[in-house]
Amino acid sequence: MSKKIIVPPEFESKVDELVRINADYSEAFLDQSHELHKYKERHPTKMLIFKCGDGRLLVSRFCKARLGYLRNFRNIGGKFNMGWLTFQQGLSRILEDNHRTGNGCLAIITYHFSKGDPKRGCAGYEFNVKKSIEGATGFRGQMERAYRELHYQLYPIVVGIETDEEALILHNNQGGKVYLSKMPSNINEEEMSAYLISFFSDMPEQMRYDLLPLLMGNIKHIAEIRESKREIVELNHKEWILGVGGGSAFDFLHIPNVALIAGQYNPNLGKVIKQAFGVIKSHWHEDKKFLTLAAVSYGPGIHEQHARMVVNYYNRLIHEVASEFFHELLPHMHQIRVLVDIETQKMKMV
Ligand SMILES: [Zn+2]
Repeated sequence: MSKKIIVPPEFESKVDELVRINADYSEAFLDQSHELHKYKERHPTKMLIFKCGDGRLLVSRFCKARLGYLRNFRNIGGKFNMGWLTFQQGLSRILEDNHRTGNGCLAIITYHFSKGDPKRGCAGYEFNVKKSIEGATGFRGQMERAYRELHYQLYPIVVGIETDEEALILHNNQGGKVYLSKMPSNINEEEMSAYLISFFSDMPEQMRYDLLPLLMGNIKHIAEIRESKREIVELNHKEWILGVGGGSAFDFLHIPNVALIAGQYNPNLGKVIKQAFGVIKSHWHEDKKFLTLAAVSYGPGIHEQHARMVVNYYNRLIHEVASEFFHELLPHMHQIRVLVDIETQKMKMV
């Protein structure tokens, strides 16, 4: 962290914590980067995860995936629209790059809910599970229509996340649905693989093969969660960072319930930031301090100066929205801007 960055004393511990989380993640990321590279050779399908910015949805943790393996897209409610120009361009670029390597993309479009209490569900959809599923399904259809006539190998599916047990629900494109939480915890790879052949019968074989380890990981994770008997209080919103930005810039916040991410793709970004502030406000109390974090990745293909300008713009927008709609929160929040190096996942404050 640069010495020029001045942090008011009441926010110091939060900023230190953020710096520590990033340093730990970056170290772990670099430690296993060779392993990740080898893994991607065996499992070349690009895994695109579209998810809500809710701080509890750590899909790679739920699936025991290697750090940096999943390409995450985050937005409040897991809402995306192919009509958002920069989003469409970003996604098309990923598909194009991947196509050049001869591999496919599996788009995993998620929604989330809690089986124990609707109020632990998705604030972005006002806790309405039916609407969340409709949103995910609608986006899946839109994505299919957008790329149907193009040459990419893209297969979009809808996947639910039940957050009490952090368990996945698979939806196939014929209306079928299967809860991994209801599968036997000792199911082996051969059995799961046979199941997938009938459930995702038209999914390319390589994609099914690459999806398998993620599902086996989730089966193991569900068993561990059941074993741990964790407290319900852990399951509620407790985020102390409101993030705006995207790409892989927030991957390092790989800890439950730390950050709520507003995303960056909706052209009406102010509206999304306002919604995120609304969620933070709903569980805010007088003694709570929080950070806002504008973060953008830079590295191959993304010029650092450009990323810096984007981060500055997000930071300004955060301030504008807070001043206009959440004036009472201003003394309790501190704004941070960071650039995240794609190759090392190290962040630097600007
Ligand atoms: Zn949500």
